[in-house]
Amino acid sequence: MAEGPAEADLLDLLIIGAGPAGIATAVEARRAGIRRILLLEKGPGHSFSIEKLYTPGKRVDKVYLGQQVDCEGAVCIVDGTRETVLEALDGFVREYGLDIRSHTEVSRITPLDGGGFEAVDAQGATYRTRTVVIAIGVYGRPNKPDYPLPASLKGNVRFDLTESLPAGASVLVVGGGNTALEYVEYLYAGHDVTLAYRGAEFARANEVNRRILRDLETSGQATVWRNADIASLGDAGAAPRVEVRFKDGRTARFDHVVYALGGATPEGFLRQAGVDLDGRHPRVDHRYHTAVPGLFLAGDLVAGGKGSIVKAFNTGRTVVWEGLCQDHLECRIPGAGEGA
Ligand SMILES: Cc1cc2nc3c(=O)[nH]c(=O)nc-3n(C[C@H](O)[C@H](O)[C@H](O)COP(=O)(O)OP(=O)(O)OC[C@H]3O[C@@H](n4cnc5c(N)ncnc54)[C@H](O)[C@@H]3O)c2cc1C
Repeated sequence: MAEGPAEADLLDLLIIGAGPAGIATAVEARRAGIRRILLLEKGPGHSFSIEKLYTPGKRVDKVYLGQQVDCEGAVCIVDGTRETVLEALDGFVREYGLDIRSHTEVSRITPLDGGGFEAVDAQGATYRTRTVVIAIGVYGRPNKPDYPLPASLKGNVRFDLTESLPAGASVLVVGGGNTALEYVEYLYAGHDVTLAYRGAEFARANEVNRRILRDLETSGQATVWRNADIASLGDAGAAPRVEVRFKDGRTARFDHVVYALGGATPEGFLRQAGVDLDGRHPRVDHRYHTAVPGLFLAGDLVAGGKGSIVKAFNTGRTVVWEGLCQDHLECRIPGAGEGA
């Protein structure tokens, strides 16, 4: 372990990841009077997962995956679109004067002798801090299928829709959750879209997305294959290049395949910081404190696979008022209408 940090360059709170959880944590910390707060964000700006993974104009539901959760802290959203939610998050960043260092991907966090932490980013810059909140979400590593993807199909296989697909292309979307259905809703105008899901029902998706998919299927604007479990992908060598083989023996060819299989807990990142995992889930107490003193998690990392924006906001509030302010940092006693 390295030595404890010198007071001059010491942060009170380092937040890794400036998505909904990181922003809410920083807002609550500001309200609590915590002074030296810095957010490190790997993307070009805050809320990079939303910016990247939500399709333009996507509807954003406050009650997501059927989770009726109310906002408990200072930040909240209403039902809207990708754009209105990004605007709201932008507003919180401005209103509370949050200090976000973008294009800064943290690669390692080390607890220091005598307390505190050192974080190192991908460029080798170091940050010393008394406490850390990891709020990096689960979308950094999209889930991949368990069969190999031919290297020659790199340009034809995607895990998000950040780059647009050529107009008129035939596209197979793979998955059965909200993301897969929203990809179909986004792509059907201008592309020949098929959705393949290994299940029989789209039970994981919300009612609105299920209704839209039913309408697109009934009107012939999208094709939907249920119980369609893929066995392998092959390169057909000529357009449409991707040959998809299903476990029932069927084959079909597409120009592009887009997987929407969700994201995975960044287990390696958490383990190197000293966080224990119970299977794929990090172990934290009711305040999202890990077994490492002063190290907290927030947002999707502690949502047990059912994250939402409002749940992410609420974890930030809990971490600050029930965690940091109780045992780790000095906080202002909240005035009327503030705090926990
Ligand atoms: C397609 C899609 C649709 C969704 N629709 C809805 C909806 O309608 N309503 C709803 O409530 N929820 C929705 N969700 C879920 C919601 O987006 C998440 O629950 C929420 O964004 C979680 O917030 P978070 O801050 O924990 O993580 P994220 O939003 O993933 O933010 C994590 C941040 O950390 C950054 N980061 C990652 N690694 C590092 C690193 N090493 N160093 C520095 N920064 C790092 C990322 O760039 C990102 O900005 C949807 C999710 C998806 C994928």
